[in-house]
Amino acid sequence: MYQYKEVSPGRFVLSLDNHVEVSEALAAFCREKDIRAGVVGGLGAICEATFRFLDPATKKYVDKTFGEQMEITNLTGNISRKDGQVYLHLHVTASRRDYTCIGGHLLTARINGACELFVESFHGAEIGRRFDEETGLNLYKF
Ligand code: FE
Repeated sequence: MYQYKEVSPGRFVLSLDNHVEVSEALAAFCREKDIRAGVVGGLGAICEATFRFLDPATKKYVDKTFGEQMEITNLTGNISRKDGQVYLHLHVTASRRDYTCIGGHLLTARINGACELFVESFHGAEIGRRFDEETGLNLYKF
C-alpha cells in the first residue's frame, strides 16, 4: 500500500502505491506508526477524487466525485484521533487537463501515477476531536 523512510525521528517520507486510495493508505500508515497527532503534506496524480463541501447555512454535507485524471498540486492536512480511531482532516487542490484547479475537503482520492507525502508525527502527543453543534464540525479537543 505504501513505502516509507523515516528521515528524522517522527518525520516520514511516503510513497503510496499506484491505484491505492490516499486517505485509506495514510490512515493505515498512521495506525502502523501509532501516530495520534501530526501533519501531512504532499502531491501526486489521481484519476478520481471525492470532495466535500459543508454548507454552513444548512450544516449539510455536499459531496461530489470527479472522475478524471488530475494532478494533486497540493495536499495539506492534519492527523488526530476521534472515538479511538485515526482521524484525518485533508484538503486538496487538484489541477485538470486544462490546467484549471478544483479542490476542497478531501474524502477519497484514487492514485493514478504516484503520490508522495510527508508526515510529521508530534512525538507521541495525542489530539482528539469533538463534534461542535454550532458549526457542524468535528473540532479539535484540547
Ligand atoms: Fe475540511
